This record gives sequence, C-alpha cells and structure tokens, in this order.
Amino acid sequence: MGNIIFCGGGNDLVMDNSLDLLRIFSEVGGPSGYESRVREILVDKFKPIARSVETDQMGSVIADISGVNDSPKIMLSAHMDEVGLMVKNITEEGYIKFQQLGGWLDQAIVNQRWIILNDKKDVLGVTGIKTVHVMPQEDRKKIFDAKDLFIDVGAPSRDYVMNNLGISPGDPIVPFSPFSVLNDGDLLLGKAWDDRAGLALMVKVIEEIQSSNSEKVNSIFAVGTVQEEVGLRGATTSSYMVDPDIGINLEAGVAADFPGISTDESQEKIGLGPTIFLHDSSMIPNLKLRDFVSQVAESEGISLQFNVLTGYGQDGSALQRSRGGTPTINIAIPTRYLHSHNSVISYKDFQQATRLVRVLVEKLDSKTVEEIKNF
Ligand SMILES: [Zn+2]
Repeated sequence: MGNIIFCGGGNDLVMDNSLDLLRIFSEVGGPSGYESRVREILVDKFKPIARSVETDQMGSVIADISGVNDSPKIMLSAHMDEVGLMVKNITEEGYIKFQQLGGWLDQAIVNQRWIILNDKKDVLGVTGIKTVHVMPQEDRKKIFDAKDLFIDVGAPSRDYVMNNLGISPGDPIVPFSPFSVLNDGDLLLGKAWDDRAGLALMVKVIEEIQSSNSEKVNSIFAVGTVQEEVGLRGATTSSYMVDPDIGINLEAGVAADFPGISTDESQEKIGLGPTIFLHDSSMIPNLKLRDFVSQVAESEGISLQFNVLTGYGQDGSALQRSRGGTPTINIAIPTRYLHSHNSVISYKDFQQATRLVRVLVEKLDSKTVEEIKNF
C-alpha cells in the first residue's frame, strides 16, 4: 500500500534505511493475536544477523544476538501487535459487526477506512455513519457507540461476504492508512507507531551493532512480543524464556504538544528526544538503571525527556516481574494521536533513540549490570 512521499531535506534520510524500515513496519497489518505478517518481516530482518531466531509458544520472536560473553543478557523488547478489530458476525444484508482488539476511543472508529486481512485477498471497508441530513439536532453532538457501528465492504449479502470475499468470523481488521512524510519535514505520519516505531528502533539498533566493528560486551536478545495491547501477554512468556539480566522496553510515548492535552496528563513533546517513563500504571523503573540511562544520555549529548503517566501499561512491566525480577526501563519515542488511524512521530527522535539504545547496550558490561542488580 504505497503512496510514500520521501523527504527531500537532508541526505541522511536518503542514505539511511530507517525511513524504509519505518514505512514497512507502519503499513504492515497485525492486530493483537494476528501478528503473523509482522513476525515474518521481523524474522527476515533478524535471520541474517542473529545467532538464532526462535518463537515462544505464543508467537513472540526471540532473536539471540551473541556477544563476546554470554552474559549479561540484555533483553530489548517491542510489541509487534497494533490496535485493531476482528470480525464478530456478518449481518444478512452483508455488513460486518466487529470486536475491538485493544483500546480504542469510539470516536476514532467512526467513518474510517479499514482492511480486513484475509488469506484470499485483503478487503477494503468503511465504518459508515448516518448523515447529518437526517440527524435530529440533539443527536448531532453525540458520540457514536462502537457497538452500533459496522463495516460496509460493498457487498449485497452475508453469502457474498463469506463466499465471494472470503471473510469469516475471526478475521482480523486493521486501519487503512498509508505512510507519509508530513509535508517534507521531520514528522512521519502513519498508523501503528504504537509500537512499530519501537520495533523499527529495535531492528535498527541491532543492524547498527552488527555492522559496526565495536566489540559486543554482552548478549542481546531482541524480542518482538505479541498481544501487548490486550494485556502484555507475549512479554510475559518471552521474558520467562529469555530470563534477562536487564530489560529495555521500546515503546511509543504520549506526546503532549497539541491543543487540548496538558502537561498534567503527559510531559513529553515531539522533537525533543527519546523519553524514559518514570511512572505509569504498570511500572516504576529500576532506579539505578534509570540513572544509568540519564548519565549515558548526558555524556552522549542526547536530549532525554521524562514522563510521569497516571495510566498506560507497557511490556516492560512484564519483563520487570519475570521470574525473580529484572531491572527494567521503558524508553519511548514521543507519539501524537496513538491508537488511531493516524499517528505522528519525529524522525529526529527516532535517530536519537537509536543512538541512545545502541550506546546503552554497548555500555552494559557485566560490571555495570552487577552494580545495577545489586540493592
Ligand atoms: Zn504500545
């Protein structure tokens, strides 16, 4: 699904494969529980550069990037799934009713284009709504309840939907939203930056480490998790398998830099660098690891933001609580408008985050990790 507009400004955008990586990961469809297309891409990326690539029994991808030493084990994680829908039932008239996968605002579902992922053929559909022409005045400011919504695939009957379009209950549905560079600037517009920005970041870091000549002081496990959006499920099983010494989760942060959102809700802003979460509803990071990340960012001249969120939940908390516990931090790329068809990140932030994570994993030698693990 093309329509890619490449950024004209800055040669590094043309020279670097990051934009391509971001586009591919943004556009691929893979809602929670249906990550197979994302998994395929990730396995392809890791196969040539990892010692081994395996999956756990829920479908998370675990790539072992060997170092000079087998320990310490640093686990990088990013979730492969995105928020989406799945086919619940098909009305006799040929309209599709759906179940939400992950947290959606009802308003974000209305009047949008969707792709129903299908083995036969991907099918385009639209969540239609009643026109204002027939809407009573008092209903015009009302929110459309998601349970009343449906997807129109242009079919005349249930029979046509099932037999001609090949759609069945259980089929996954994702937003239709091609990637674009926003008006030739630094900002990237696309679906699913939560958490494909983190996934692209993880791949980029591993590619850079593998192509550099610097000695790898530790073992890195790069993990693409499944089913984060429905309760951190893949991170629970994959972190048990890896049994890491340190956990670094890579996520989409919550940018609060547009009208209607305040610093009481979230403090990070797009373009000011990667963010570490100091608090969210699922995790308080290991304090020594938190300070280590801050020191590394400072010594590398990378601007680092902090965020304190009341809500939110992320895979890092599953890593943190795995087995006897793991010092863990959540590093985020500030993102506007998450969990919708159109989210926005900054390319500059992506580059800064890449540098930060890369330096972090290089500096986490056994002595440093022992100090962090010691209370
Ligand atoms: Zn996420």
